[in-house]
Amino acid sequence: MKKRCSKEKKRMRRVLKAKMKEENKTNHHIKPTSRDNDNSEKNTIYIDADKHDIYHRLFSNLLPDEIIHYLVDYFWGGQEKWLITAIKQREVYYEQKKRAQAMSYL
Ligand SMILES: [Zn+2]
Repeated sequence: MKKRCSKEKKRMRRVLKAKMKEENKTNHHIKPTSRDNDNSEKNTIYIDADKHDIYHRLFSNLLPDEIIHYLVDYFWGGQEKWLITAIKQREVYYEQKKRAQAMSYL
C-alpha cells in the first residue's frame, strides 16, 4: 500500500513537472532553500521561468526583506517613502478586494 502511494506521488510529480515545462513555469521558493530548507507549499510558488531567472540574477538568494533594503539602498538612493506609499496602496487594494468579495455574496 505504501509503495503505491509513493508511486502515485511520483506520477503526480512527473505530471506537474511536464505541465510546468509546457507552461514555461518553474518552482520558486520565497525563502530560498539555501537559507532555510523549507520545501512547504507555503514557501513555494510557480512562476514564469524567464522572470524567475531574471529575479535570481538580480536578487540572488536574498530574503524578501533583504531585497527591499537592497532596492531602497541601491536603486532608490535611500528614499524610504516608496515603502510607505506601497504599504498604503496595499491596504487600499485589500480593502477594495474585501468589499468586492462581500458584494459578490449578496
Ligand atoms: Zn527561485
